[in-house]
Amino acid sequence: MYDELYVSVPEEYEHLKRSVHEFSKEVLKPAGLALDKLSAQEAMESPIYWDVMKKGYELGYHKTLLPEEYGGLGLDPLGVHILLEELGWGSSALGVSLGVSAFPAMGACIFGVENQEVIDRFVMPFVEDTKAQIIGCWAITEPDHGSDWLMAHKTDDISVKGSLKATKKGGAWVLNGQKSSWVSNGPVATHALLFPMLKSEIGMKGGGICVVPLNEIKGISKAKPLEKMGQRALPQGEIFFEDAEIPSAWMIVDDEEVYPFAIEAVLATANAGMGAIFTGLARAAFEEALLYARTRTQGGKPLIEHQLIQHKLFEMFRRSETARYYSRAALIYNFSTMPPKTRYSITSKTYCTEAAFLNAHDAIQVFGGLGISKESYIEMLLRDAKLSMVEDGCNDVLGISAAIDFDELDLD
Ligand SMILES: Cc1cc2nc3c(=O)[nH]c(=O)nc-3n(C[C@H](O)[C@H](O)[C@H](O)COP(=O)(O)OP(=O)(O)OC[C@H]3O[C@@H](n4cnc5c(N)ncnc54)[C@H](O)[C@@H]3O)c2cc1C
Repeated sequence: MYDELYVSVPEEYEHLKRSVHEFSKEVLKPAGLALDKLSAQEAMESPIYWDVMKKGYELGYHKTLLPEEYGGLGLDPLGVHILLEELGWGSSALGVSLGVSAFPAMGACIFGVENQEVIDRFVMPFVEDTKAQIIGCWAITEPDHGSDWLMAHKTDDISVKGSLKATKKGGAWVLNGQKSSWVSNGPVATHALLFPMLKSEIGMKGGGICVVPLNEIKGISKAKPLEKMGQRALPQGEIFFEDAEIPSAWMIVDDEEVYPFAIEAVLATANAGMGAIFTGLARAAFEEALLYARTRTQGGKPLIEHQLIQHKLFEMFRRSETARYYSRAALIYNFSTMPPKTRYSITSKTYCTEAAFLNAHDAIQVFGGLGISKESYIEMLLRDAKLSMVEDGCNDVLGISAAIDFDELDLD
């Protein structure tokens, strides 16, 4: 819970940090561990998952990413970072589930702002929800196009095109195709922030963004939740669209000039959030290792008194502290800058997820044999952290995407 370099932050942040930490410790951490041991189907249906979501919604954590004027939690960017880090400390998988839930409403606030019907339909019910009845997802990647979608606005090859298509039909758009089995919250989501192709003839740059209620429209179905190595508490799965018709007002981005900025804005938000959440995991791994090193005795003294272990712990501390201060700076900058500079969010996401993975790896080494036992908590942290290096864009591809914009850097 320590945050010593931020001695000057006002008291309300201290209170926020303490209360989210309490929730994370008492609710998220035990739930994440319990859900990790279930099958994907069992986890998704488990009262443990739904209890977390309901408690999170009651506390308003699902609306962390929404602007205050639309009923958001009213936190400034520093508060958002503090909250997300604490959620990630308890369970990155459940932190992601709560965070991504806001994506359809968030998209509606940013891109549907001129359309009161969209705000009334997709934002207001979500902010008023205290029982986790409205759950959102971000449906962008497809089985044949993962990185292609994350790089959509930077791909000139027009032969590369997404498979989910929206076709104009009078005053409506008709959706056909599918999104990948990786859509976080997909199997439990009631709403999607969906990225279809509108103009395939210009390749990936011809995409659009719409908000879609998934349980109210004919022609939408979902697959079983995906069995995966980590973040098992987070339900993920495919969504299929077969002649699913939505009114044209729900296509909140349909202009190819606006689309690149829209993709950047969503990616900048998502990656900044990931940096904060996985700073939490990096810290959790460090703290677990430190606690263990204080109590385990080998060679006649506690592990913490062995210099090699001290050095390992220092490396872990160094990573989680660096992750926190960079991801905080990047999130504050990009949540206050329009248009955001996505390279800072990407730097944060890629650095913090790698820090989380390395810390979980080193923590296992400090634990020795106990670290690889299914009884230990940290083997789950390693699996959860590994997924984060692919989640919201493979780290390698995100790096390429950031570097493409380096011509903007003024080296004068
Ligand atoms: C935990 C988790 C949560 C996720 N949540 C969501 C979600 O909420 N919504 C959603 O839609 N998707 C989600 N995803 C999907 C995720 O965004 C994709 O898995 C990711 O973008 C990579 O796509 P891919 O798996 O198809 O891999 P591919 O794109 O096929 O990449 C395979 C490999 O090729 C490399 N590669 C790909 N393209 C290039 C290139 N142009 N140049 C060089 N190397 C390249 C990659 O770095 C990677 O190593 C999630 C994934 C995970 C693991």
